[in-house]
Amino acid sequence: MSVCREKLWFAVIGLTVMGFGLNDCMGQVNDAAPAGVVAVDQTTAAPVVIAHRGASGYVPEHTTEAAVLAHAMGADYIEQDVVLSKDGVAVVLHDLTLNDVSDVAQIFPDRVRTDGRWYVMDLTLAELQRLTLTERRSEGRPWKQAGTRFPLDQGRFRIATLEEHLRLIDGLNRSLGRTAGVYVEIKDPARHRAAGLDSSAEILKVLKSAGYDSASAPVFVQCFDEAEVRRLRSELKCPLPLIWLTAKMPDETKVREVAEFCDGLGVTLNLVVADVSQQGQPTITTLVETAHRYGLQVHAWTFRADALPAGVQDADLLLEWLTVQGGVDGIFADQPDVVVRWRNQRLAADGKGNPFRLLNAGRRRTRGPQSDSARPSQPENPQK
Ligand code: CA
Repeated sequence: MSVCREKLWFAVIGLTVMGFGLNDCMGQVNDAAPAGVVAVDQTTAAPVVIAHRGASGYVPEHTTEAAVLAHAMGADYIEQDVVLSKDGVAVVLHDLTLNDVSDVAQIFPDRVRTDGRWYVMDLTLAELQRLTLTERRSEGRPWKQAGTRFPLDQGRFRIATLEEHLRLIDGLNRSLGRTAGVYVEIKDPARHRAAGLDSSAEILKVLKSAGYDSASAPVFVQCFDEAEVRRLRSELKCPLPLIWLTAKMPDETKVREVAEFCDGLGVTLNLVVADVSQQGQPTITTLVETAHRYGLQVHAWTFRADALPAGVQDADLLLEWLTVQGGVDGIFADQPDVVVRWRNQRLAADGKGNPFRLLNAGRRRTRGPQSDSARPSQPENPQK
């Protein structure tokens, strides 16, 4: 098995160096998925690189332009945060409100609520389509001071529906000959429900109609609301890989509990690399080890090349700590190209097999108690 895997990794490294993905050469098509939906092979893309709100480090978040750039940069998955319009249409936006990323105050001055905010769910899709999106205005974010992001209020960016993003990515997957998956976040389902909107059901419907309807489809669905993730699996019978998001360190009891209904954890970087000593040594937590023991992937957010965590001087070092030492299975990045480039270099430089100790590399977990064969193996010895 390990010999086979090593051979595969050599092949992957060779193909990567030549600029090919394994999917291109093997034409891997997942039988369970409808025509046109090709599974992302995680053995060629480990750890997976998730473009956080698209290539949001370069283009205003969640625009179709940011999705195109993320695809072109080789992201394995492209993230869509999703909220519903007043008429129940799933649109790709991070906030429930429009203040920080659009010109809503100019276009619909009288639609403001008493809290001074304009809500996505107060406007119909037709109204939302009249708005222009901008780079996020909010101050107090370290990367704003760096001056590295797209200028404010520049360009003509539009709000797009989830369906439009999925069709765009499908088109790029075909025209570029490389599958990028989608990584959909259900934003604040409780607030939606209070407004009479079932965002989870609507989002699953849109995903299904675009062909994302099996456990092996190139998609993750993520949500902070633990009860909603459970509901997605049980009541809504969602077959797609589910990620529970948390910024708080879960103890082992919690990990075991959520492993019953989800496939992975989406966690803040500091839950994996807790801190860095004065001497520049990282403290790696046991979270990934615990999660892997219960068959859960771990995806960390958010890598920002222009705003590294306190004490971290070097982006490559952080990636090394997160992946080779920390063992995460995926990284959300504002600059997906930086992580893709680092991964390619790391794989090529090592040349002795997979330096990443990932959960079930290349295989999707099937839910339920882990069989012995599905248990994560020990890290492969790079000297072998
Ligand atoms: Ca998100």
